Amino acid sequence: METITKSLRLPNTHNMGYLYGSGWKSISMVDVYKSVTFTLWLCGCNLRCPFCHNWHLAINDQLFCRPLDVKEIIEHVKTTKNLIDYLHVTGGEPIIQFIPLMYFLREIREIGVKISINTNLTLVNPLKKLIEENLVDHIATDLKSPHRMLYGHDARTSDKLWEMFLRGLELVKDNDIPLELRIPVPRKLVNTKDYIEDLSKALSIIKDHRKTYVIVQPLLGYPVTDPRNKEWCSEYCDPEPDELEYVASYVRDQTSLQVIIKRHVTL
Ligand code: SF4
Repeated sequence: METITKSLRLPNTHNMGYLYGSGWKSISMVDVYKSVTFTLWLCGCNLRCPFCHNWHLAINDQLFCRPLDVKEIIEHVKTTKNLIDYLHVTGGEPIIQFIPLMYFLREIREIGVKISINTNLTLVNPLKKLIEENLVDHIATDLKSPHRMLYGHDARTSDKLWEMFLRGLELVKDNDIPLELRIPVPRKLVNTKDYIEDLSKALSIIKDHRKTYVIVQPLLGYPVTDPRNKEWCSEYCDPEPDELEYVASYVRDQTSLQVIIKRHVTL
């Protein structure tokens, strides 16, 4: 994991006054289910999901990513703080910028705004630290099954990352943090042994966590999105409606969690 993180070549922002990102939206009604958020997009990611439509952010594309002045972001958050439920940090993988992110979230806490983080849940130790500092009120994550196909790494690395993801779910449950568990459904895979094994393992951890709700949604491909790997996506994106239904039914059978099917995802 450390090797992956180091290889991202994030800019040397020793000054904690900056986060590296693409920008923010002061009022968003589509990033967290039934919530209004101030959404901030940060750059860098340790996964290489072939379907990723934010891959320009994930790879730190200089055309999209720049240093964002934390003070400026906070001033903008202050102007909308009475209108939003959360500051929602997404990406990319925001926790890859753990140190400046922690300083930033401490300041957000001081102005009394609740914090939601969209994370791939594989950077468990930094997340644990944020939770210990009481800097996390809500988490959104994707259950990417089968992980060996969806993480975009070789099998060995993907397996390690998947173990971290499962530990991340444990962490969220043990700390009783509200969780938006998104299940992006691929095409042609939901009946495979690997798919069901991953799904069932992850659900077994979270099935009794009352603050989890599950959103089943399609993995969208080109031209609705601009995926990292168009060829991969032409094979495995845009599932049939009955594949979404199948996954939703499976989750309902295995858990007592609220399940929402989103057939059309707002990007
Ligand atoms: S989909 Fe998310 S976790 Fe995967 S590469 Fe893109 S930003 Fe990273």
